[in-house]
Amino acid sequence: MKFGFDIDDTLINLREHGFHIYNQKLNQTVAIEQFHKLKTLEIHSIFGLSDEEGYEMWKDSLEEIYFTDCPPFSGVIDLLQQLTEQGHEIYYITARKPAYCEQTKQWLIDNGFPVKNDHFYCGMKDEEKVQIIKELQLDFYFDDKPEVLNTLLEETVKCFVKDQSYNQHIKLPRFKDWSKLELQLLEKNVI
Ligand SMILES: [Mg+2]
Repeated sequence: MKFGFDIDDTLINLREHGFHIYNQKLNQTVAIEQFHKLKTLEIHSIFGLSDEEGYEMWKDSLEEIYFTDCPPFSGVIDLLQQLTEQGHEIYYITARKPAYCEQTKQWLIDNGFPVKNDHFYCGMKDEEKVQIIKELQLDFYFDDKPEVLNTLLEETVKCFVKDQSYNQHIKLPRFKDWSKLELQLLEKNVI
């Protein structure tokens, strides 16, 4: 079967990694509980930054956030390797900007993700992901972002939400822990 995955905050804990970098760079000690309560993807508000300052901060920190030691979510690499060994196809579909695509692919490989050359899609807009997902005829797709998931509700692909504080309103099967995901559960749509 064909599996598609968003990367940031679906496979890897990017925002939280960014949160720790912000605390360091801004010399603040914002508590992690504040982060867990956020209802937005953007994290700047808990650091007292305006939207404009937050945008600049994210832009200036992006390479550090992307390409240092952002941790994958627990169990996810094992699961993807298992699926690959069982003969399933794994596709990565990320809206990271074109300038970061090659380095992102290499980062995934360096961090133990199974990546086949032509199974890595990068540099599209959020709303363009749906087209790629349809063309690839994916059986399953995983994402965290409401704006993306909302474009997929009418499609035949079975979508799953990686549980996050900002996507609680999305009415799709959701899960918290990759290590508890099993193919049988996905096929039955029960998580
Ligand atoms: Mg994401």
